[in-house]
Amino acid sequence: MKIAIVNVNKSRVIKNTEYHVFTAKTFVEARSWNEISAEIVNVYMTDDMSTSAGTIENQQADIIVFRVLYWNAGYIMKLAKSCRSTKAVKGLWGYDTFANPEEYLKKDFDFIIQDEPELSLYEMAMLKRNGESIGKASGIVYKDKESRSFVYGESRVLTDLDSIPSPYLNGMIPVNETTSVYWEIARGCLFKCDFCVDFSHGGNLRYHSFGYLEKELAFFAEKGVRQLTIGCPIANLSHQQFSKILAMISEYLPRALFDIQIRADLLSKSDIETLAGMNVFLNIGLQTANQKVHENLLTSFNVEKALANIRYMANYPALMFGIDVIAGLPRMSYEDFLNDLETVFNLWPISINLLRLSMYPGTKIYNRMREFGYTVESSYPYLAVESAQFSKKDMEKVDELSDGIDLLYNKGRMVSIITMLAKGLEMPCHEIIMRWNKWIRKQAPDLVAEDIDIHFRPFPEEKTLAGSLRPAKTQPLLHNFTHGRKRRQSHNALSA
Ligand code: SF4
Repeated sequence: MKIAIVNVNKSRVIKNTEYHVFTAKTFVEARSWNEISAEIVNVYMTDDMSTSAGTIENQQADIIVFRVLYWNAGYIMKLAKSCRSTKAVKGLWGYDTFANPEEYLKKDFDFIIQDEPELSLYEMAMLKRNGESIGKASGIVYKDKESRSFVYGESRVLTDLDSIPSPYLNGMIPVNETTSVYWEIARGCLFKCDFCVDFSHGGNLRYHSFGYLEKELAFFAEKGVRQLTIGCPIANLSHQQFSKILAMISEYLPRALFDIQIRADLLSKSDIETLAGMNVFLNIGLQTANQKVHENLLTSFNVEKALANIRYMANYPALMFGIDVIAGLPRMSYEDFLNDLETVFNLWPISINLLRLSMYPGTKIYNRMREFGYTVESSYPYLAVESAQFSKKDMEKVDELSDGIDLLYNKGRMVSIITMLAKGLEMPCHEIIMRWNKWIRKQAPDLVAEDIDIHFRPFPEEKTLAGSLRPAKTQPLLHNFTHGRKRRQSHNALSA
């Protein structure tokens, strides 16, 4: 029994080294005592498509699953068509397939993996080996050709994360001092926010054991790792767990820069003091400073506490953090959003990620679209076009503001002066950004173009967080929709 996990790379130079592609392989093989082989089949978008199709067909696999990301989705649709000669069942995992499974199943595919891949792949292979329908596998949507129906499998995920052999320790993912490691400590979440499209949205909060994690950290230390991203939707859901993780990092990788997603309202003063002594970048998903909106979306987020904690962080200028803000949230006007933005500028984050609301089919917020009077784009990333309170024109202004903030504030390092400048000029910070946007549009094209990136760096080179092993959510996918770097999808998304 063989599974081919097709990993589409941009080119032979720009490769997709995504952690969960490796955990899918390592789990399936270990759980089946190598009775099932799971092959990661690398194909390259720069190669001739028939060559790639031939590489996949030559595997003679029983199950073929394509890892779909937003940038390779179109390519995969064509590639799958070219793989017609194979007798394998073919399926997809990632991108927006979980949101629109039936749309994809109308095409050339037999199944969609809706959540974490490991258990679904293992169960499909075992069922197929026993001559049973793979439709019974957990976490998949299956196209039953005989009954001409779509079968939704039971939504189950792995309960014991330690049953996934570490792809670092078993040498599957090479590590050295230049690797930016994705270090998965947990999956799932305690909350059920309306907009959540988390990788583990169906699963409860689960942790790796400290023993498992300690072995990985010792290995990273031995390899001289200098950067790591802590993998889990929110790192500080459990105070005890969080404190232990920070203590382990301080012990094994005291100088490494790490990037972490936290909920600011759950931090304690002692957490902040500990973090201030570490080399850390905190991704804070605020979304809005309006408590009522959070309550509307069932996020359980305590705005007052979060703002107080972030202000407390100002006592520690070396503590780096970025804040995500969402425009167009339910029952919020453009003016409400500008007030949010002003609040955020005055918290002095080193970066602000400003995004328009995305409403994924399948999420609770999507089902409340009419209630809130939304019009939403019909394809990825399902951006809100307008709502009862937020006009289309204002949404377009948000995009402009977002680009301006990215260039002038994030890359231009205006954190230390923009609020003083705004005071002196007697105008809000967003007005400075908008006026600058207006000015730059009148300048020579070469100044507006990418080379501005060369002039502005977010922070010194050794502090950058270019993550070669950053996972999908990655994209990530935002707290809600961002947590962290600029991306058009939430921290809780299946792909980024
Ligand atoms: S949006 Fe974040 S806090 Fe809310 S359920 Fe999803 S992962 Fe949890």
